[in-house]
Amino acid sequence: MTILNADLHCHSTVSDGTLEPEALAARAQANGVELWSLTDHDEVAGQRRAMAAARALGLPYLSGVEISVTFAHLTVHIVGLGFDPDNEQLVRGLELTRGGRGARAREMSAQLARIGIEGAYEGALKYVGNPELISRTHFARFLVESGVCRDTNEVFRKYLADGKPGFVPHRWAALGDAVRWIREAGGIAVIAHPARYDHNPTREYALFSEFKQHGGQGVEVVCGSHSTSEYAKYAELALEFGLAASRGSDFHCPDESRIDLGDLPLLEGRLTPVWELLVDRIQPA
Ligand code: AMP
Ligand code: MN
Ligand code: MN
Ligand code: MN
Repeated sequence: MTILNADLHCHSTVSDGTLEPEALAARAQANGVELWSLTDHDEVAGQRRAMAAARALGLPYLSGVEISVTFAHLTVHIVGLGFDPDNEQLVRGLELTRGGRGARAREMSAQLARIGIEGAYEGALKYVGNPELISRTHFARFLVESGVCRDTNEVFRKYLADGKPGFVPHRWAALGDAVRWIREAGGIAVIAHPARYDHNPTREYALFSEFKQHGGQGVEVVCGSHSTSEYAKYAELALEFGLAASRGSDFHCPDESRIDLGDLPLLEGRLTPVWELLVDRIQPA
């Protein structure tokens, strides 16, 4: 049970991925994934489909979600695993979290128009599978398609990252609320890709401490946005804070994602993997 090719972070057309949940399940299995979770942003509408597809393939499955949180003026992502996807408080909390995305997207488009990029809202909408989940990723795909940038990374760097002309600040869920929704729905909360936030050690320590105080139990150690040295750094922080370790590619799209499903180093044996805390919540094959 300890050493598994688990991939507990990826996105479908229900949020900002380009593959349907069924196609992701098949791809995970083809790549040798032994335990899978679909973690769409702020939405559990893909969970039934992902579960059914995994069951049909004999692929063990944990329910998943990635919640957008505002913590100390930063956007932080919290992954939830192994919860009841029908839990009313969680479903309502996610609905509130998604709520401002439409207005934010229109404002992003207005800001881009001011620097000469017209029609970005309509352009982004063409890529959106779920209208409540319009995201920066959909804008990035439109800007690549229309020749403004070579790839989505360049779009973020020049236009969509914090402080760039298309960036619109947004207030997401509170850290304590996100952790509570996940816990009260029977799951565990995990800090997603911690290396992507604030490298200031005091602020990073504050995030880990508050997360832990709210009842958070895990952190992504091996994930698509971490380097080898970051695997080591967050392994140490997991041990220091008594957090279980998670592993996930954050796969979005065959043409965009650097790391494919299941295509990551295994977790070190000295870490407690999150799935050891969730044995009774894994949907058996
Ligand atoms: P949003 O939730 O609308 O703010 O969009 C966030 C999403 O943008 C993330 O989940 C990633 O999929 C994507 N993203 C963020 N930064 C980058 C980047 N530098 N390159 C490519 N995609 C990114
Ligand atoms: Mn995303
Ligand atoms: Mn994320
Ligand atoms: Mn993600």
